[in-house]
Amino acid sequence: MQGILGRIVENNAELAGLLAAVAADVAPQIGTGRVADYIPALARVDPRRFGMAIVACSGASAFTGDGEAPFSIQSVSKVFTLTLALGRVGDALWRRVGREPSGSPFNSIVQLEHERGIPRNPLINAGALVVTDAILARRRPEIAIAEILAYLRELSDDPTVNVDREVAKSEADTGFRNASLANFIKAFGNLDNPVASVLETYFNQCALAMSCRQLARAGLFLANRGVDPVGGQRIVDEEAARRINAIMMTCGHYDASGDFAFRVGLPGKSGVGGGILAIAPRRAAIAVWAPGLNSAGNSLVGSLALESLARRTGWSVF
Ligand code: GLN
Repeated sequence: MQGILGRIVENNAELAGLLAAVAADVAPQIGTGRVADYIPALARVDPRRFGMAIVACSGASAFTGDGEAPFSIQSVSKVFTLTLALGRVGDALWRRVGREPSGSPFNSIVQLEHERGIPRNPLINAGALVVTDAILARRRPEIAIAEILAYLRELSDDPTVNVDREVAKSEADTGFRNASLANFIKAFGNLDNPVASVLETYFNQCALAMSCRQLARAGLFLANRGVDPVGGQRIVDEEAARRINAIMMTCGHYDASGDFAFRVGLPGKSGVGGGILAIAPRRAAIAVWAPGLNSAGNSLVGSLALESLARRTGWSVF
């Protein structure tokens, strides 16, 4: 894989070779980890699924295994709602949500009281609820959900992306912790919209079903200073792209963000569906899916696959 080091990858075959090597590295581990079971619809997913896709800034791409199978992107959606909210309200967002790693699990409530309803960062559940509230902007949830869906279809350049309504309902039926977080934030005056509207929008954004290929394509603008290198459109300004990458690096894996930086060294965002989106600045976006999670709620095999990829390419930012 030496050929990939230090330059833009132009070649599908080279990327396919890289993914084949990474898949072989993690093959013995496939099926390990625990599938999230607090959302009943996710508990039914086969833990032996494994997919990975890479889309380079040159437009070259490759996938392996279940790389074209849709899965529940869950908290990976928080990267895209953050991008959307920054476009809508700009820096005013930072008055309502912080940008420090939480050192706490994704659904933790403890810090919220100390910090008076201002969540630590936009990539934990509490922060993502505030971001979703900013997108809602006093509209009906259906309108905001349609906007988020249209945004992901545009970014992934694929009109077939959809929300899995069964997953959204399953989470709504059991989302007592998220309801607690939203009510708590509301009590501190940091939600403009009704709690029920924020939760409905949030559960639907988490229930977006996308494949690794679609997810990597959708995140590609983050590898290219905010401009989609294939279509040429600017998605966010350069400063916003840099900041989103920084937040992914420091906060994208909750209380295991330090470990992910240590092992992989790329901005990344995980979801309890077992997906991870990672960004190799100036090079590529990579998505991996393996449903078994580690104790921090991040994909166990997905993290190993990204560690292997970073080692083989030298793409760590450090
Ligand atoms: N929808 C999930 C939740 O709110 C997202 C969590 C995650 O992916 N880490 O619990």
